[in-house]
Amino acid sequence: MIQLVQVSLENEMDLTMAYKRSIKAAELLGLSLSTQTSFATAVSEVCREVIDKTHEGTASIEVHIEGERYSLAAVITYREVTGMESLQGGIQYAKKLIPLFNYIVTDGVGTIELKLGIPRSAMVNRLKVITVKDYFGQAEPNTPYEEVRQRNLQLFLINEESEIALQQEKYLNEQKNEFLSVAGHELKTPLTILRAYTQMALRSDCSDITLAHLKKIDTQAQKLQTMIMQLLDISKIEKGNADYNLEKTDLNSYLTDMSDLIRQLVPSHELIIEMHQEAVELNIDRLRMEQVIMNIVGNAAKYSPAGKQIKLSTKITGNDELQISVEDQGIGMSDEELLKVFAKFYRVSDVTRLYSGLGMGLYICSKIIKDHGGRIWVESIHGKSSTFHFTIPVALI
Ligand code: ADP
Repeated sequence: MIQLVQVSLENEMDLTMAYKRSIKAAELLGLSLSTQTSFATAVSEVCREVIDKTHEGTASIEVHIEGERYSLAAVITYREVTGMESLQGGIQYAKKLIPLFNYIVTDGVGTIELKLGIPRSAMVNRLKVITVKDYFGQAEPNTPYEEVRQRNLQLFLINEESEIALQQEKYLNEQKNEFLSVAGHELKTPLTILRAYTQMALRSDCSDITLAHLKKIDTQAQKLQTMIMQLLDISKIEKGNADYNLEKTDLNSYLTDMSDLIRQLVPSHELIIEMHQEAVELNIDRLRMEQVIMNIVGNAAKYSPAGKQIKLSTKITGNDELQISVEDQGIGMSDEELLKVFAKFYRVSDVTRLYSGLGMGLYICSKIIKDHGGRIWVESIHGKSSTFHFTIPVALI
């Protein structure tokens, strides 16, 4: 059997399509004009009954091949309903028009087959049948209804494909998050122990050279710990588990308390902190906000030569927001790179060889800032400076 074309049977428009496609199939296979009309009329009579009684069925126009014999057939399937089994009206009429008529019902699905032999004079062979099939495959829709239908079908298929792709992506993403979470926890424990012993050894009586080595171990272990925390944060954020412990916080005292910590983070740079004068209250998760500030200031130091200035300043904007800006005099970024720095795992390509990192810090920062109702952005002059800005809504007292 070779299916030439299929028509779904839902409404009157489909009836016209079933008629047109049947007559075209018979014409292309070289049947006489009267046979074309009889076949198409019989097909549309059955289709009319199916549409009237069920509103859901399909008509498949096919060529059946038995040895040397070729037949043109229409196989109409539908969900069986009462009234069809008596084969009244149009179906009785169709039966008279077509030599071979078959009707069966299996598991609630009715199938009506209309079939007529193709005379040898039509000189049909497999190649001709394939050519007719191709004709229907490539045929342009000939009514606006057909066009809409075809488009709907295409849209449906595209939609289905993208849904499958989306599901797969979601699954892979979940697997990745699970891996990050397990790997992060497994790495965290031995590293915490390693750092604890290093701290103890640093306080013990040892030679200067051993002390210098221990300090190096501790610095590198600290870097590793930061990266592991970032891995765990990413998996938390992606799972939607980043919970915040929001507290009303006076900004100036919060920053003053943190300033020592910030200075320790960038000992080789000149740090300037310029705070605005007005008292401001923020509703923030203090630890998470500290993470943002430390990450941005840490980057400012990482991506600028030692000895250069890093300026942290605060101001209140017209929109009742607090704006914190961190300006450095470092390597800067191109306009294209600026657009991508907040994306997950993004690192500027020149940077990867020279500076360690995983490209997660700014993605996490942007997530934390957005979850606080704020915005984050960056301005930069390539090769000269970068300024990261973020805002947080001021708490209403
Ligand atoms: P990481 O620093 O671990 O690579 P981040 O997410 O913190 O990851 O930063 C992403 C990228 O943005 C960095 O790899 C770097 O290319 C660029 N970047 C961030 N901060 C600066 C800065 N102050 N100056 C220049 N480039 C920066």
